[in-house]
Amino acid sequence: MNPTGTFDKLARRIEQFRDEMVDLQMRLCAIPAIAPSSGGEGEAKKADFLIEFLKANEFVDVTLIKAPDLDAPDGYRPNILAYYRGKSSARTVWIMTHTDVVPPGELSLWRGNPFKAWVEKGRVYGRGVEDNQQDMVASLFAVKALRAEGIVPSSDIGIALVADEETGSRKGIDYVLQNHKVFRREDLIIVPDAGNETGTMIEVAEKSLLWLKFKTLGRQAHGSTPEKGINSFKAASFFVAALNDLYKAYPARDRLFDPPISTFEPTKKEANVPNVNTIPGEDVFYMDSRILPKFKVQDVQRTIRTIAAGIERKFKVKIRAEVQQKAPAAPPTSAQAPVVQALKKAVKAVYGKDAKAMGIGGGTVAAVFRRAGFPAACWSKLDETAHQPNEYCIIDNMVCDAEVYSHVFLQE
Ligand SMILES: [Zn+2]
Repeated sequence: MNPTGTFDKLARRIEQFRDEMVDLQMRLCAIPAIAPSSGGEGEAKKADFLIEFLKANEFVDVTLIKAPDLDAPDGYRPNILAYYRGKSSARTVWIMTHTDVVPPGELSLWRGNPFKAWVEKGRVYGRGVEDNQQDMVASLFAVKALRAEGIVPSSDIGIALVADEETGSRKGIDYVLQNHKVFRREDLIIVPDAGNETGTMIEVAEKSLLWLKFKTLGRQAHGSTPEKGINSFKAASFFVAALNDLYKAYPARDRLFDPPISTFEPTKKEANVPNVNTIPGEDVFYMDSRILPKFKVQDVQRTIRTIAAGIERKFKVKIRAEVQQKAPAAPPTSAQAPVVQALKKAVKAVYGKDAKAMGIGGGTVAAVFRRAGFPAACWSKLDETAHQPNEYCIIDNMVCDAEVYSHVFLQE
C-alpha cells in the first residue's frame, strides 16, 4: 500500500467523523470535571463516560488507574490508559490529554452556559472544549479512523486520559509515572497542552520560573522630617532599578526561546501608606523571573541577595526576599528527538506548514515526563482560549489535528 494513499483515505475518514467529533465534545462538556481543590467533584464521572466510549470503540487493555484523593467524592482521581495494537509492541506512540477542566469563572462574562456547549461559526464553545478536549477528541477519532479503515500501524498506539493537570498533576500523570511502568524511553510521547494559532510550534523546552516577594523595611516618619525615618519606598525604588542588572549578569541567548533571553521583571506592587505626608516604613513588590534552563535558579537567587545587600548598606534598610513560586525547568527534549521529527512531517502533510521546536516561558505538563527522563513534545493548533470565558475550539483544528495524529501513527 502506498503510504500517501493510505493517509488520504484516513484523512477522508476523519473528515466524515466531523459531526460525531462535535457531538462527543458536547457530551464531554456536559460533565464538569473540576478538581476538588477548585470546588468540583473531580473527573470520575467523565472518566466513566470515556471508558464506555473506549470500550464501545474497541480500544484494548483499557486500564483505570485510581490515584487516591480523599477530597474527591469517590475517593480517587481517575487516570485512563487504552491501546490500539500495531504490528510490533517495541514502541508505543502516545497521545496524552487531560480530563479535568478549570472552573468557568465569572458566569456573566459567558454568552451561554459553559457546561452546555454550543456551536457558532465553525467553533464549539464551552468550558474545556479547547483545554483539553479538542485534542482528546482528535486523538480518539484518529484511532477510530485507523480501525474503520482496517489499518494496522507499525507501532502500538497509546491513549492516556489523565486527571489533575490543572492543579499540579500529582494525582494525574505524576502518579501514573511513579506507580506504573507503562512508558518507555523509545516511545513517542505527544502532549497537546501547548501550541499556537498556526500549528507551527512544537514545544520542547521551558524556562525556570522564580517568583519573589520583596519586603523592604525602613522606619516610618512624618513627611516633614524624613531624617527621622528611613524611606523604604525610596530604597525599594533603587533596589528595583538595581535588579535590572540581572539582565547583564545573565545575558545568554537561546534561539529556541521567544524571547531568547532570561527575563527579570518587577510586577505586582502593594500599596504602602494611604496619605501623602508620611515617610513609608515598609514597601512590598514582586518580581517574575523566567530563566533559561542553562542557568541554575540558586545562582540567580545568590546574585539577587548580593544586590539586596548593597541596597541594605546604602539605605540602612532590611530587605526580605520570600519565594512565592520556584519551578526549575525540566531537562529539554532535543529538537532532533524522533517525536519532534514525526510531528514536523505530519504538520507539513496536513497543514502545509513548517513547524519548529521551540521553548516557552511557562510550564507545561510535558515537564513531568521530561523530569522522569522521557522526551515528550507538546503540540496542538489552537487559539489559546483556555481558562477564558467563552472558551472555544475551532472545529477545523480538531478535525485536522486528528489528521496530524493519524499521520504520525502511519509513520514507520
Ligand atoms: Zn488548562
